[in-house]
Amino acid sequence: MSRPLRADIDLDALRHNYQLACELAPHSRALAVIKADAYGHGAVACAQALADLAPAFAVATIEEALALRAGGISHPVVLLEGVFEAAEYALAAEHDFWCAIHSEWQLAALEQSELAQPLSCWIKFDSGMHRLGFTAEQVLGAKARLEACGKARDLHLMTHFASADSLTPDYFQQQMAAVTALAAQAELPLCLANSPATLAWPETHAAWNRPGIMLYGGDPLEGANDASRRLKPVMTLSSAIIAVREIAIGEPVGYSGRFVATRPTRIGVVACGYGDGYDRHAVDGTPVLVDGQETVLAGKVSMDMLTVDITDLPEAGVGSRVVLWGEGLEVNRVAASCDTISYTLLTGLLPRVPRHYH
Ligand code: PLP
Repeated sequence: MSRPLRADIDLDALRHNYQLACELAPHSRALAVIKADAYGHGAVACAQALADLAPAFAVATIEEALALRAGGISHPVVLLEGVFEAAEYALAAEHDFWCAIHSEWQLAALEQSELAQPLSCWIKFDSGMHRLGFTAEQVLGAKARLEACGKARDLHLMTHFASADSLTPDYFQQQMAAVTALAAQAELPLCLANSPATLAWPETHAAWNRPGIMLYGGDPLEGANDASRRLKPVMTLSSAIIAVREIAIGEPVGYSGRFVATRPTRIGVVACGYGDGYDRHAVDGTPVLVDGQETVLAGKVSMDMLTVDITDLPEAGVGSRVVLWGEGLEVNRVAASCDTISYTLLTGLLPRVPRHYH
């Protein structure tokens, strides 16, 4: 018998979530963000599944974009951070990759590049994230230079929100006001909304949106809303109990004895650990499903195994199916127990976990 750990990827759920992003923003087109191997779900498989729905994809690096071409995806692909060195422009033009431009050096390098065809350029405005992008004044200057240099076509203006997921959206509204003011001057098609903005802030819906985590069923909002409740989980990470231990009161379980039995305890040992990408920060009490019933992690996560309390599940034993997240167990709940967000759990799932596509 092979190791029971697996990630089942529900491509119908992916399509459902993409369609929800479109339904919420009927006047926008949605770039499907499939960087970081589609947040751990497999970029080529996800792109193929969305190929007839999504007009274009978005990734972080040219290597990710080339991997899509190698996988037979011919759609335009936006490089969200643009190029990392000047030589990438020629490749980008050859493959019809659309490039974010966020810095003076990228602009100057493009002006000096020899290209097979002009590039679609997405000028990035720093509206308050203070990570990448130009000031408003620089955006207008960049636009003029791109229009003059003959190396660019189909200019767009993009920005990224720092707190669209927040229940206290003052900062988000400040960013939105800054981009709205600039848009009136720049007169370019806009690309603004990430998943939380797609789900919660219709005023951000522009020519293009950029939903990422919501495509995979992760709810990015601090509190779910009617739209985010319609998301379906795409990845279900599951395994099985491979051993059972009876633990007496006062006995510890696992590394450094973090969990100590306060009652006679049955422990199920599950084939999944941090060597697979399950977060070692998971606290005792992190939810897991055993044979469809909820119980909790008990003891520190090991490299290849973790331990769960099955005292109250008398039917559970070796071979019982364990869901770590996904169908029936929202990844956000697991993430909260690891003091992190769904994004890191999903993108952190390592290649040794076999993906099964349905
Ligand atoms: N746009 C940019 C520039 C990003 O960096 C990301 C994700 O990090 C996204 C869009 C998608 O964000 P989300 O996954 O929150 O939808």
